[in-house]
Amino acid sequence: MIVQIPKDSDFSIHNLPYGIFSIGNGPKKIGVAIGDHLIDFSACVENGIFSNVPLQVVNTGVLNDFIALGKKITNEVRSKLKELILDNNSWLKTYPELILKQSEVEMHLPVHIGDYTDFYSSLEHATNVGVMFRDPEKALLPNWRHIPVGYHGRSSSIVISGTEIHRPCGQTLPKDSDIPIYGESKRLDFELETAFIIGKESKLGHPVKTNEALDYIFGMVLFNDWSARDIQKWEYVPLGPFLGKNFASHISAWVVPIEALEIFQVEGPKQDPQVLPYLQFEGNKNYDIQLEVAIKPENCEEKIVSRSNFKFMYWNMEQQLAHHTVNGCNIKVGDLMGSGTISGKEESSYGSMLELSWAGSKTIAMADGTERKFLNDYDTVIMRGHGEKDGVRVGFGEVIGKILPALKNE
Ligand code: CA
Repeated sequence: MIVQIPKDSDFSIHNLPYGIFSIGNGPKKIGVAIGDHLIDFSACVENGIFSNVPLQVVNTGVLNDFIALGKKITNEVRSKLKELILDNNSWLKTYPELILKQSEVEMHLPVHIGDYTDFYSSLEHATNVGVMFRDPEKALLPNWRHIPVGYHGRSSSIVISGTEIHRPCGQTLPKDSDIPIYGESKRLDFELETAFIIGKESKLGHPVKTNEALDYIFGMVLFNDWSARDIQKWEYVPLGPFLGKNFASHISAWVVPIEALEIFQVEGPKQDPQVLPYLQFEGNKNYDIQLEVAIKPENCEEKIVSRSNFKFMYWNMEQQLAHHTVNGCNIKVGDLMGSGTISGKEESSYGSMLELSWAGSKTIAMADGTERKFLNDYDTVIMRGHGEKDGVRVGFGEVIGKILPALKNE
């Protein structure tokens, strides 16, 4: 092994996720994370180590063109990287400047995200929101068990982990009033999600079938899909999410190849009633990925407020993709598909403050003794996720986002 990998590292030899980094004002390059380090993959290609990778695809500042080479090549790269890292007499040893510390580089958005779609695929989350926003008796709308419900989000405001965002302002309806007001959102929330990144283009008019879907998925990231619940509640009827959602979403820096997650595949919840044939699938298509969310108030220790798992999802990624394209809608390399908030059955596994505080009727204690129903200014939200099985650990690192006060626009 050319570098020491800490025992509990998310970035084990089984992971090898891709990201975009720079040093100082230098160019944006492709890196591959290993332990606390990363390998300058762009420089490896420049040195002719990966003859199957054209130089121009590693110097665009995003992963899109590299991903678009296709799985045959990207999986060959993966195997070769593994060999290079494991080999004590590796070629990499002669170029120590190609092995960098993650703490010494700046990370950037890994892909140019053309389109962003957000699903709503956790039964527990959809039920909880239905109970709070609508009618407890009819929490789940009649379509929910038949359709992986989703909407088209906005990609321009998706930012890399570590970016600070401002509390959004907007229109809300005060309690017991029918006259809306304009002001800061008072119910700012996170949503614990994962997202997958499309690695292969589909043709307009041609649906992707569930059994082909994995060919179209390059990898996954963690995703914090910020939500302003008070803006959302007033605006969402009848067309769904808009300004309560599109002000910001954070993604983690390292794209974990879907192949690295294969060993964590598990059976998902039973789908009842049976889904239509185009949504049927074979095999275990959920993923056992442990997730957690922490809130860190300014100058205070973090407090873990939720522990959930990606395996709880009712609809899996293959079904989401089959549904997304069943009408002929095409997908492109770099498109991002959010899972929807990942909540489990236990209260401690709820993936949003809306659910954890039950629409503000309960408080959550922070490490400094303060309490939260929703998020305060200067709170930092940290999400982590990893799978672990048979001594193999593959993780996403963290996605971190800090809330700054609203900008004064008046
Ligand atoms: Ca969402």
